[in-house]
Amino acid sequence: MKTKKIKTIALIAHDNKKSAMVNWALKNKETLEKYALCGTGTTAKLVAEATDLPVKRYLSGPLGGDQQIGAKVAEGKIDIVIFFWDPLESQPHDPDVKALLRIAVVYDIPIATNKATADYVIHSAFLEN
Ligand code: PGA
Repeated sequence: MKTKKIKTIALIAHDNKKSAMVNWALKNKETLEKYALCGTGTTAKLVAEATDLPVKRYLSGPLGGDQQIGAKVAEGKIDIVIFFWDPLESQPHDPDVKALLRIAVVYDIPIATNKATADYVIHSAFLEN
């Protein structure tokens, strides 16, 4: 019997978007609990505390967390990225952010960069596949 692989969802939010991410995760907790979750350091910690769901923590974004998540995407170990980035503030790790966006496109995985898209992704029939 072939066992179904549980999809892994990565969560990342820049500082001004962290409360939006926590609220989104709380709202979608019932769906998120069916998946393996991971995220950049602070985002993962905040989501885990708010939802009580296990969220694997990578390094904080500015310290290499986005790059770690990008590497896992390249290895096929992350299936979906929910990335609430801040379009109104420059980030010290902007090259890492760009690299993550790029690698998600290279490997053709869903990467939601705002709440509206994240809502579509989390309610997509493709999630079940
Ligand atoms: P953080 O990183 O979750 O550790 O704050 C997110 C980011 O800034 O990319």
